[in-house]
Amino acid sequence: MVILSSPSGAGKTTLVKLLSKNKNFNISISHTTRKPRPSEVPNKDYYFVDHNKFENLIKNEEFLEYAKVFNHLYGTTRTPVIEKLEKGENVIFDIDWQGADQIKNKKLNYKLITFFILPPSKEVLFKRLSNRDMKDKLIVDERMKEFSRDVLHWINYDYVIVNDNLDECYLKINNLIDAEINSGSKDYDKEYIRKHIEKLTS
Ligand code: 5GP
Repeated sequence: MVILSSPSGAGKTTLVKLLSKNKNFNISISHTTRKPRPSEVPNKDYYFVDHNKFENLIKNEEFLEYAKVFNHLYGTTRTPVIEKLEKGENVIFDIDWQGADQIKNKKLNYKLITFFILPPSKEVLFKRLSNRDMKDKLIVDERMKEFSRDVLHWINYDYVIVNDNLDECYLKINNLIDAEINSGSKDYDKEYIRKHIEKLTS
């Protein structure tokens, strides 16, 4: 299991797609109560469901994890994930820190590697968010505030990666996954990350 989390706008969705294609990872498809964006395909990007359906899934204990993010509910159903893992297949999750914590705490019998993706600076993040489909300034401001809170959760992840350049970022993640699997040497500079976090939170 590989979890990729990041504050909104750090480029995680593209990374998940790259990893799934090149490293043979099944992308876990989440359920959400949020409405689809124009570019999104139902049952591929998400299972879009209403609040009642989501509550039923909670009641029936179908979720491996679920959380409220930006006023919407998001969750990962257990069965499809466990079925794939049992077959020896890899699964990658694009979920937030709350979901990552829940999966970590379940201590399942499958190897888990967690990554937290960060933008190179607050300025770059602001630009990325402003250029997205969310042109609304209020939403951008809200997500910037959310960023300051989310970033504090970096400490609970195995690795923090700065997404300065998508190809390099992908390679770093790729190499760390390989090193974890083969118990190889890891190219990871914790001190650099610590300083980067200081810069982002100052
Ligand atoms: P978006 O609405 O932009 O697709 O996603 C918003 C946030 O929800 C992202 O941080 C994404 O990783 C997170 N998210 C998506 N699916 C899930 C899920 O199943 N569980 C949890 N905990 N977070 C999710």
